[in-house]
Amino acid sequence: MIDTVKPVVHNFNAGPSVLPKEVFEEASKAILNFNDTGLSILEIGHRTPLFQPVMDEARSLVKQLMQLDDDHEVLFLHGGATTQFMQIPMNLLNENDIAAYTETGTWANKAIKEAKLFGHVEIAGSSKETNYTSIPKNLTVSPTAAYLHITTNETIAGTQWHNIPYDCGVPLVADMSSDILSRQLDFNKFDLIYAGAQKNMGAAGVNLVVVNKNILGKVNRTIPTILDYRNHIAEGSMLNTPPVFSVYVAMLTLQWLKEQGGVAAIEKLNNEKAALFYDTLDALPLFKGPVAREDRSKMNAVFVMEDTALEKEFLDLCKKEGMVGVKGHRSVGGFRISMYNALTIESVKVLTDLMKEFAIKKG
Ligand SMILES: *Cc1c(COP(=O)(O)O)cnc(C)c1O
Repeated sequence: MIDTVKPVVHNFNAGPSVLPKEVFEEASKAILNFNDTGLSILEIGHRTPLFQPVMDEARSLVKQLMQLDDDHEVLFLHGGATTQFMQIPMNLLNENDIAAYTETGTWANKAIKEAKLFGHVEIAGSSKETNYTSIPKNLTVSPTAAYLHITTNETIAGTQWHNIPYDCGVPLVADMSSDILSRQLDFNKFDLIYAGAQKNMGAAGVNLVVVNKNILGKVNRTIPTILDYRNHIAEGSMLNTPPVFSVYVAMLTLQWLKEQGGVAAIEKLNNEKAALFYDTLDALPLFKGPVAREDRSKMNAVFVMEDTALEKEFLDLCKKEGMVGVKGHRSVGGFRISMYNALTIESVKVLTDLMKEFAIKKG
């Protein structure tokens, strides 16, 4: 028996993070009895007629939700977004060539470090001088660069690109780990998009890669079989055993998103949640948001209190009210709340009400 009664929790975790209740329910059923087969999803072959439709549907849903054209291939790969930090330059950057990277925080810097193992990196724009509290506005990209890399949402710094540099003149590569499928973008204008699933589209253990196949096959190094995107495309994202359960959870989350009305509908809700949070933040002098207003992330909001002694008191109150994941990242301090697709506006309201109450009490 599955005990479905559990305490009410408002989950602001940064990742792994909140998923729709319906997804948890379906996923638990599939562990015990997958599609009424009497088998668990954990004990069936990945090339069977039982699992193949899961992979097919997960890939097809990404195509539909992102409205991708036929040049863009959808892959579900192992290794998290961190593996993409090296797999991208390995597949796209020749040893003597340049790749352009934007330097916007922890995640961008990790991507830059790996790219340097394969070729030259030029920094097209940086917000290091503002301690990553903003997004660089004027980019300089060499016309000969193999690609430009951006981190569309910096999960730790709490910044987000609201003006995507679509017209940078070179192939555009994006780490969308923490805002994938949260807003409408012109996804076909990206040549490679990657995202670890565990923030906004599923369980840990799989990452989504969307790649324009026309940019592949242009480097002259030998790429190990498992790291060559072309092999994964040729095998329909089944080059080896995929992370079966994580792909299934991603499929359920994508189905849920489609039922909600797709990316346009979820973007509207995400805008409402972010507006509720930031309007409250701006109205209360007790709290401060370090991020430049125009670059604030709608997924991960970072905030602090001038009086750090009060921070602990506020965190304790959050805990008492069933809120988890409100504490800031260890490198930034203060608070961070993540408002991913599956977080309800009610959860944001519980938090903002507490912020207002606390501000009055301390006023
Ligand atoms: C979490 C995160 C990553 C790392 O993802 P893993 O799946 O743990 O490798 C990379 N980029 C961004 C923007 C992230 O938020």
